[in-house]
Amino acid sequence: MSPAVTGKTKLLGVLGYPVEHSLSPAMHNAALAGLGLDVVYLPLPVRPADLGRAVRGMQALGFIGANVTIPHKEAALTLADELGAEARLIGAVNTLVFRGGKILGHNTDAAGFLLSLREEADFDPAGKTCLILGAGGAARAVAVALVQAGSRAVYIANRTRERAAELASGLQRDLGVPARALSIEEGELAPVLEQADLVVQASPVGMHPHRGAPPIIDPALLSPAALVYDLIYNPPETTFLRLAREKGCRTLNGLGMLVYQGAMAFKLWTGVSAPVAVMRAAITDLVRS
Ligand code: NAP
Repeated sequence: MSPAVTGKTKLLGVLGYPVEHSLSPAMHNAALAGLGLDVVYLPLPVRPADLGRAVRGMQALGFIGANVTIPHKEAALTLADELGAEARLIGAVNTLVFRGGKILGHNTDAAGFLLSLREEADFDPAGKTCLILGAGGAARAVAVALVQAGSRAVYIANRTRERAAELASGLQRDLGVPARALSIEEGELAPVLEQADLVVQASPVGMHPHRGAPPIIDPALLSPAALVYDLIYNPPETTFLRLAREKGCRTLNGLGMLVYQGAMAFKLWTGVSAPVAVMRAAITDLVRS
Protein backbone atom coordinates (compact mmCIF):
# COMPACT_ATOMS: atom_id res chain seq x y z
CA MET A 1 0.00 0.00 0.00
CA SER A 2 1.45 3.42 -0.98
CA PRO A 3 1.95 5.89 1.85
CA ALA A 4 -0.13 9.10 1.64
CA VAL A 5 1.40 11.95 -0.36
CA THR A 6 2.49 14.72 2.01
CA GLY A 7 4.63 17.83 1.86
CA LYS A 8 7.67 15.63 2.42
CA THR A 9 6.97 13.23 -0.44
CA LYS A 10 9.70 13.27 -3.07
CA LEU A 11 8.97 13.20 -6.78
CA LEU A 12 10.10 11.09 -9.75
CA GLY A 13 8.56 10.73 -13.18
CA VAL A 14 8.88 9.69 -16.80
CA LEU A 15 9.18 12.30 -19.53
CA GLY A 16 7.86 11.19 -22.91
CA TYR A 17 5.28 11.93 -25.54
CA PRO A 18 3.00 10.11 -25.36
CA VAL A 19 3.53 8.35 -22.00
CA GLU A 20 0.12 6.94 -21.17
CA HIS A 21 1.25 3.42 -22.22
CA SER A 22 4.51 3.53 -20.24
CA LEU A 23 4.91 0.70 -17.74
CA SER A 24 7.47 2.67 -15.70
CA PRO A 25 4.98 4.32 -13.27
CA ALA A 26 3.51 0.93 -12.28
CA MET A 27 6.97 -0.62 -12.01
CA HIS A 28 8.60 2.15 -9.97
CA ASN A 29 5.62 2.91 -7.71
CA ALA A 30 5.47 -0.80 -6.79
CA ALA A 31 9.18 -0.73 -5.95
CA LEU A 32 8.92 2.51 -3.93
CA ALA A 33 5.89 1.26 -2.01
CA GLY A 34 7.52 -2.14 -1.47
CA LEU A 35 10.48 -0.47 0.23
CA GLY A 36 8.28 2.03 2.10
CA LEU A 37 10.02 5.04 0.51
CA ASP A 38 8.17 8.35 0.63
CA VAL A 39 8.50 8.97 -3.13
CA VAL A 40 5.95 8.91 -5.97
CA TYR A 41 6.62 8.37 -9.68
CA LEU A 42 4.43 10.23 -12.19
CA PRO A 43 3.75 9.96 -15.94
CA LEU A 44 4.80 13.33 -17.45
CA PRO A 45 3.62 13.87 -21.03
CA VAL A 46 5.75 16.69 -22.49
CA ARG A 47 5.83 17.86 -26.09
CA PRO A 48 9.30 17.98 -27.68
CA ALA A 49 9.26 21.80 -27.88
CA ASP A 50 8.64 22.01 -24.12
CA LEU A 51 11.29 19.56 -22.91
CA GLY A 52 13.87 22.14 -21.77
CA ARG A 53 11.32 24.15 -19.79
CA ALA A 54 9.87 20.97 -18.29
CA VAL A 55 13.24 19.68 -17.10
CA ARG A 56 14.23 23.00 -15.57
CA GLY A 57 10.78 23.19 -13.97
CA MET A 58 11.25 19.75 -12.43
CA GLN A 59 14.57 20.88 -11.02
CA ALA A 60 12.86 23.94 -9.53
CA LEU A 61 10.09 21.77 -8.09
CA GLY A 62 12.58 19.57 -6.27
CA PHE A 63 12.19 16.34 -8.29
CA ILE A 64 14.94 13.87 -7.41
CA GLY A 65 15.05 12.33 -10.87
CA ALA A 66 13.26 11.15 -13.98
CA ASN A 67 13.26 8.63 -16.77
CA VAL A 68 13.37 9.91 -20.31
CA THR A 69 11.69 8.01 -23.10
CA ILE A 70 10.68 8.41 -26.76
CA PRO A 71 11.01 11.00 -28.30
CA HIS A 72 13.26 12.84 -25.81
CA LYS A 73 16.27 10.58 -25.24
CA GLU A 74 18.64 12.41 -27.61
CA ALA A 75 17.42 15.91 -26.72
CA ALA A 76 17.92 15.20 -23.00
CA LEU A 77 21.63 14.80 -23.68
CA THR A 78 21.94 18.53 -24.24
CA LEU A 79 20.02 19.42 -21.06
CA ALA A 80 22.32 17.61 -18.63
CA ASP A 81 25.12 19.49 -16.83
CA GLU A 82 27.12 16.26 -16.58
CA LEU A 83 26.90 13.01 -18.51
CA GLY A 84 27.71 9.45 -17.52
CA ALA A 85 30.11 7.57 -19.80
CA GLU A 86 27.36 5.32 -21.23
CA ALA A 87 25.08 8.26 -22.04
CA ARG A 88 27.92 9.91 -23.93
CA LEU A 89 28.77 6.74 -25.86
CA ILE A 90 25.17 5.89 -26.71
CA GLY A 91 24.34 9.51 -27.52
CA ALA A 92 21.14 9.39 -25.46
CA VAL A 93 19.92 9.84 -21.88
CA ASN A 94 17.24 7.62 -20.32
CA THR A 95 17.75 8.71 -16.70
CA LEU A 96 18.07 12.16 -15.15
CA VAL A 97 19.22 12.73 -11.59
CA PHE A 98 18.69 16.13 -9.94
CA ARG A 99 21.37 16.48 -7.28
CA GLY A 100 23.37 19.31 -5.74
CA GLY A 101 21.84 21.89 -8.07
CA LYS A 102 22.96 19.90 -11.12
CA ILE A 103 21.22 17.82 -13.75
CA LEU A 104 23.06 14.52 -14.28
CA GLY A 105 22.33 12.48 -17.43
CA HIS A 106 22.76 8.71 -17.47
CA ASN A 107 21.89 5.85 -19.77
CA THR A 108 21.02 2.52 -18.13
CA ASP A 109 19.69 0.79 -21.27
CA ALA A 110 23.01 -0.88 -22.18
CA ALA A 111 23.70 -2.12 -18.67
CA GLY A 112 20.06 -3.21 -18.29
CA PHE A 113 20.30 -5.25 -21.49
CA LEU A 114 23.52 -6.94 -20.33
CA LEU A 115 22.10 -7.77 -16.90
CA SER A 116 19.03 -9.26 -18.55
CA LEU A 117 21.23 -11.45 -20.79
CA ARG A 118 23.28 -12.62 -17.85
CA GLU A 119 20.52 -13.08 -15.27
CA GLU A 120 17.76 -14.46 -17.48
CA ALA A 121 19.70 -16.42 -20.10
CA ASP A 122 23.05 -17.01 -18.37
CA PHE A 123 24.62 -15.60 -21.55
CA ASP A 124 28.01 -13.88 -21.42
CA PRO A 125 28.74 -12.00 -24.66
CA ALA A 126 32.55 -12.24 -24.17
CA GLY A 127 34.07 -13.95 -27.20
CA LYS A 128 30.66 -14.40 -28.86
CA THR A 129 29.43 -13.46 -32.34
CA CYS A 130 26.42 -11.15 -32.13
CA LEU A 131 24.01 -9.81 -34.74
CA ILE A 132 21.76 -6.81 -34.13
CA LEU A 133 18.74 -6.24 -36.39
CA GLY A 134 18.06 -2.49 -36.54
CA ALA A 135 20.22 0.59 -36.14
CA GLY A 136 18.09 3.00 -34.09
CA GLY A 137 18.54 4.19 -30.52
CA ALA A 138 17.90 0.82 -28.88
CA ALA A 139 20.26 -0.94 -31.31
CA ARG A 140 22.96 1.57 -30.40
CA ALA A 141 22.58 0.85 -26.66
CA VAL A 142 22.71 -2.90 -27.36
CA ALA A 143 25.77 -2.51 -29.62
CA VAL A 144 27.65 -0.49 -26.98
CA ALA A 145 26.76 -3.12 -24.36
CA LEU A 146 27.94 -6.03 -26.51
CA VAL A 147 31.18 -4.33 -27.54
CA GLN A 148 31.97 -3.33 -23.95
CA ALA A 149 31.23 -6.87 -22.76
CA GLY A 150 33.92 -8.21 -25.09
CA SER A 151 31.96 -9.74 -27.98
CA ARG A 152 34.26 -11.25 -30.61
CA ALA A 153 32.26 -9.76 -33.48
CA VAL A 154 29.27 -7.42 -33.61
CA TYR A 155 27.26 -7.24 -36.83
CA ILE A 156 24.58 -4.61 -37.41
CA ALA A 157 21.98 -5.32 -40.09
CA ASN A 158 19.51 -2.64 -41.02
CA ARG A 159 16.88 -1.95 -43.68
CA THR A 160 18.71 1.32 -44.41
CA ARG A 161 22.24 0.03 -44.74
CA GLU A 162 23.80 3.53 -44.36
CA ARG A 163 22.43 3.80 -40.81
CA ALA A 164 24.03 0.46 -39.94
CA ALA A 165 27.32 1.73 -41.42
CA GLU A 166 27.07 4.94 -39.39
CA LEU A 167 26.50 3.00 -36.18
CA ALA A 168 29.38 0.62 -36.97
CA SER A 169 31.81 3.44 -37.69
CA GLY A 170 30.70 5.28 -34.53
CA LEU A 171 31.56 2.19 -32.46
CA GLN A 172 34.95 1.98 -34.16
CA ARG A 173 35.58 5.68 -33.45
CA ASP A 174 34.36 5.68 -29.82
CA LEU A 175 35.41 2.24 -28.62
CA GLY A 176 38.12 1.25 -31.11
CA VAL A 177 36.31 -1.98 -31.92
CA PRO A 178 35.30 -2.94 -35.44
CA ALA A 179 31.62 -3.65 -35.93
CA ARG A 180 30.33 -4.68 -39.34
CA ALA A 181 27.33 -3.26 -41.19
CA LEU A 182 25.00 -5.37 -43.30
CA SER A 183 21.73 -4.97 -45.12
CA ILE A 184 18.81 -7.23 -44.14
CA GLU A 185 18.98 -9.02 -47.50
CA GLU A 186 19.17 -12.79 -47.21
CA GLY A 187 22.37 -13.08 -49.28
CA GLU A 188 24.34 -10.95 -46.84
CA LEU A 189 22.66 -12.17 -43.67
CA ALA A 190 22.59 -15.94 -44.12
CA PRO A 191 26.35 -16.58 -43.54
CA VAL A 192 26.32 -14.38 -40.42
CA LEU A 193 23.17 -16.00 -39.02
CA GLU A 194 24.82 -19.41 -39.39
CA GLN A 195 27.55 -18.45 -36.91
CA ALA A 196 25.74 -15.97 -34.64
CA ASP A 197 25.56 -16.95 -30.96
CA LEU A 198 23.15 -14.09 -30.25
CA VAL A 199 20.58 -12.37 -32.51
CA VAL A 200 18.93 -9.20 -31.14
CA GLN A 201 15.76 -7.92 -32.81
CA ALA A 202 15.96 -4.14 -32.21
CA SER A 203 13.25 -2.81 -34.54
CA PRO A 204 9.67 -2.02 -33.47
CA VAL A 205 8.27 -4.47 -36.04
CA GLY A 206 5.78 -6.84 -34.39
CA MET A 207 5.07 -4.54 -31.45
CA HIS A 208 1.48 -4.11 -30.18
CA PRO A 209 -0.87 -3.19 -31.86
CA HIS A 210 0.87 -4.39 -35.06
CA ARG A 211 1.39 -7.92 -33.78
CA GLY A 212 0.76 -9.56 -37.13
CA ALA A 213 3.49 -7.67 -39.02
CA PRO A 214 5.95 -10.05 -40.69
CA PRO A 215 9.43 -10.12 -39.04
CA ILE A 216 12.14 -8.02 -40.72
CA ILE A 217 14.15 -11.15 -41.57
CA ASP A 218 13.06 -14.68 -42.35
CA PRO A 219 13.29 -16.65 -39.05
CA ALA A 220 13.91 -19.80 -41.12
CA LEU A 221 17.47 -18.47 -41.55
CA LEU A 222 18.17 -18.62 -37.77
CA SER A 223 20.51 -21.25 -36.39
CA PRO A 224 18.88 -23.31 -33.59
CA ALA A 225 22.09 -22.77 -31.60
CA ALA A 226 21.48 -19.01 -31.32
CA LEU A 227 19.93 -17.16 -28.40
CA VAL A 228 17.29 -14.88 -29.93
CA TYR A 229 16.41 -11.71 -28.01
CA ASP A 230 13.56 -9.44 -29.09
CA LEU A 231 13.65 -6.02 -27.39
CA ILE A 232 9.85 -5.89 -27.71
CA TYR A 233 7.95 -7.01 -24.58
CA ASN A 234 4.40 -6.28 -25.71
CA PRO A 235 3.31 -8.81 -26.88
CA PRO A 236 5.47 -11.09 -24.68
CA GLU A 237 6.09 -13.35 -27.68
CA THR A 238 6.33 -11.62 -31.05
CA THR A 239 5.87 -13.57 -34.26
CA PHE A 240 9.67 -13.41 -34.64
CA LEU A 241 10.24 -14.96 -31.20
CA ARG A 242 7.60 -17.63 -31.74
CA LEU A 243 9.12 -18.69 -35.05
CA ALA A 244 12.61 -18.63 -33.51
CA ARG A 245 11.38 -20.84 -30.64
CA GLU A 246 9.75 -23.22 -33.14
CA LYS A 247 13.09 -23.37 -34.95
CA GLY A 248 14.68 -24.61 -31.71
CA CYS A 249 16.34 -21.35 -30.55
CA ARG A 250 16.38 -20.19 -26.95
CA THR A 251 14.37 -16.96 -26.82
CA LEU A 252 13.97 -13.95 -24.55
CA ASN A 253 11.76 -10.86 -24.77
CA GLY A 254 12.61 -7.28 -23.73
CA LEU A 255 10.79 -7.26 -20.38
CA GLY A 256 13.98 -8.06 -18.48
CA MET A 257 15.85 -5.18 -20.14
CA LEU A 258 13.02 -2.84 -19.13
CA VAL A 259 13.11 -4.08 -15.54
CA TYR A 260 16.90 -3.97 -15.19
CA GLN A 261 17.33 -0.53 -16.78
CA GLY A 262 14.65 0.64 -14.33
CA ALA A 263 16.38 -1.04 -11.40
CA MET A 264 19.62 0.78 -12.22
CA ALA A 265 17.84 4.12 -12.50
CA PHE A 266 16.13 3.43 -9.16
CA LYS A 267 19.52 2.90 -7.50
CA LEU A 268 20.84 6.16 -9.00
CA TRP A 269 17.88 8.14 -7.62
CA THR A 270 17.44 6.56 -4.20
CA GLY A 271 20.82 5.00 -3.42
CA VAL A 272 18.90 1.82 -2.54
CA SER A 273 19.04 -1.49 -4.45
CA ALA A 274 15.81 -1.96 -6.37
CA PRO A 275 13.46 -4.87 -5.59
CA VAL A 276 13.72 -6.41 -9.05
CA ALA A 277 11.17 -9.19 -8.43
CA VAL A 278 8.58 -6.65 -7.23
CA MET A 279 9.18 -4.50 -10.32
CA ARG A 280 8.83 -7.43 -12.68
CA ALA A 281 5.68 -8.71 -10.98
CA ALA A 282 4.09 -5.24 -11.20
CA ILE A 283 4.28 -5.14 -14.99
CA THR A 284 4.19 -8.76 -16.12
CA ASP A 285 0.39 -8.91 -15.99
CA LEU A 286 0.09 -5.62 -17.88
CA VAL A 287 1.65 -7.13 -21.02
CA ARG A 288 -0.03 -10.52 -21.07
CA SER A 289 -0.95 -11.62 -24.56
P1 NAP B 1 14.05 3.60 -33.63
O1 NAP B 1 15.16 4.48 -33.15
O2 NAP B 1 12.84 4.19 -34.26
O3 NAP B 1 14.70 2.53 -34.66
C1 NAP B 1 13.93 1.71 -35.42
C2 NAP B 1 14.81 0.71 -36.22
O4 NAP B 1 13.95 -0.28 -36.74
C3 NAP B 1 15.54 1.34 -37.39
O5 NAP B 1 16.77 0.69 -37.56
C4 NAP B 1 14.59 1.03 -38.56
O6 NAP B 1 15.24 0.89 -39.82
C5 NAP B 1 14.05 -0.30 -38.17
N1 NAP B 1 12.73 -0.53 -38.76
C6 NAP B 1 11.58 0.14 -38.44
N2 NAP B 1 10.57 -0.34 -39.20
C7 NAP B 1 11.08 -1.30 -40.00
C8 NAP B 1 10.53 -2.16 -40.99
N3 NAP B 1 9.23 -2.12 -41.31
N4 NAP B 1 11.35 -3.03 -41.62
C9 NAP B 1 12.66 -3.09 -41.30
N5 NAP B 1 13.25 -2.31 -40.37
C10 NAP B 1 12.46 -1.42 -39.72
O7 NAP B 1 13.49 2.71 -32.43
P2 NAP B 1 14.23 2.33 -31.09
O8 NAP B 1 14.06 3.38 -30.08
O9 NAP B 1 15.61 1.88 -31.44
O10 NAP B 1 13.36 1.08 -30.57
C11 NAP B 1 13.33 -0.15 -31.25
C12 NAP B 1 12.50 -1.15 -30.46
O11 NAP B 1 13.15 -1.47 -29.23
C13 NAP B 1 11.10 -0.66 -30.09
O12 NAP B 1 10.21 -1.73 -30.25
C14 NAP B 1 11.23 -0.32 -28.62
O13 NAP B 1 10.01 -0.46 -27.94
C15 NAP B 1 12.22 -1.39 -28.16
N6 NAP B 1 12.94 -0.99 -26.94
C16 NAP B 1 12.85 -1.82 -25.88
C17 NAP B 1 13.52 -1.50 -24.72
C18 NAP B 1 13.42 -2.41 -23.53
O14 NAP B 1 13.73 -1.98 -22.42
N7 NAP B 1 13.03 -3.65 -23.72
C19 NAP B 1 14.32 -0.34 -24.65
C20 NAP B 1 14.39 0.49 -25.77
C21 NAP B 1 13.68 0.14 -26.92
P3 NAP B 1 15.56 2.17 -40.77
O15 NAP B 1 16.83 2.77 -40.24
O16 NAP B 1 15.71 1.56 -42.12
O17 NAP B 1 14.37 3.10 -40.66
